[in-house]
Amino acid sequence: MEQVVIIGTGCAGLTAAIYTARANLAPLVLTGTQPGGLLTTTSIVENFPGFPEGIDGFELMQNLQKQAQRFGARISFGNLDSVDFSGHPLKLVVDGDPILTKTVIVATGSSPRRLGLDSEALLEKVGVTYCATCDGALPQFRNQPLVVVGGGDSALEEATYLTRFASEVYLVHRRDSFRASVIMQERALKNPKIKPIWNSVVTEVLDVAQKKVTGVKLKNITTGETSTLACAGVFVAVGHVPNTAVFGGALEVEPNGYLKLQGGTRTNIPGVFAAGDVADSVYRQAITAAGTGCAAAIEAERFLGEETENY
Ligand code: NAP
Repeated sequence: MEQVVIIGTGCAGLTAAIYTARANLAPLVLTGTQPGGLLTTTSIVENFPGFPEGIDGFELMQNLQKQAQRFGARISFGNLDSVDFSGHPLKLVVDGDPILTKTVIVATGSSPRRLGLDSEALLEKVGVTYCATCDGALPQFRNQPLVVVGGGDSALEEATYLTRFASEVYLVHRRDSFRASVIMQERALKNPKIKPIWNSVVTEVLDVAQKKVTGVKLKNITTGETSTLACAGVFVAVGHVPNTAVFGGALEVEPNGYLKLQGGTRTNIPGVFAAGDVADSVYRQAITAAGTGCAAAIEAERFLGEETENY
């Protein structure tokens, strides 16, 4: 029987691992399909406190993992198949094997949102991508015009990053102002390679018949005007959706799909806590994920101390 199983190894999961490991709970930490979480797909993280020069996202996550392991966290490259939270102990099925545990910390994070176009799905991995730092340097994108879709921090960060490789970067946004922070906007808009296309949406990615990206069809949503823009790649950065599907309705969610918390980091199931982006539609920062990971660990530790006899 496990004391605590942590699902996810992003900032929330690994911070929960550091705290529960230091509390001598020897947490079992499941990586899922993306060890290290979304920060491993970013370049320099400039706003995590304690790193005045910034830190590479991958390096930051490696450091958090080492810190958790130093105190006895057990990192497992496991993938959660399903859960049974109908009684205690809590049951998880991980890569086909059952695991029983007294507490669970859900830190499954979020995944990139799709535009929802058929052509987007058909051209994914052959020119449509959701991660500039993962794919931007590929030969097919070098010295070519590229399209980034979105107006948040991710879109502007990706557009700025892609200017290292692209001939120009068209930033297609559905409104006439960005959602991104002022510093990101200033950085992107002063870059001569970045060309914003306002009030516009991508209606089709071309060209499915050629099995590669040659351009996008655009629609200006204020004038209704349509146009075609040639490009070699489409980088979609339109936000994220919380990773809750694996819980199959066992955990209550808010109308927007994020896990519903009952105060602190408690979910509707006693002994199941949630931290990071999976339960945060508001802040979604690395440091807030780390903060709630710490809080979930403290609450799990208290639950084990005070409430286990009831279950
Ligand atoms: P976000 O802030 O939710 O922005 C998503 C953007 O995509 C918005 O501009 C939105 O348009 C647009 N969008 C959403 N659905 C769309 C659709 N179907 N078609 C076209 N456009 C669509 O997401 P994010 O940029 O991924 O950022 C997530 C969080 O991470 C934020 O809290 C952000 O501050 C943080 N973040 C921080 C940094 C940093 O500080 N270095 C870097 C990356 C992310 P509207 O504006 O019209 O809604």
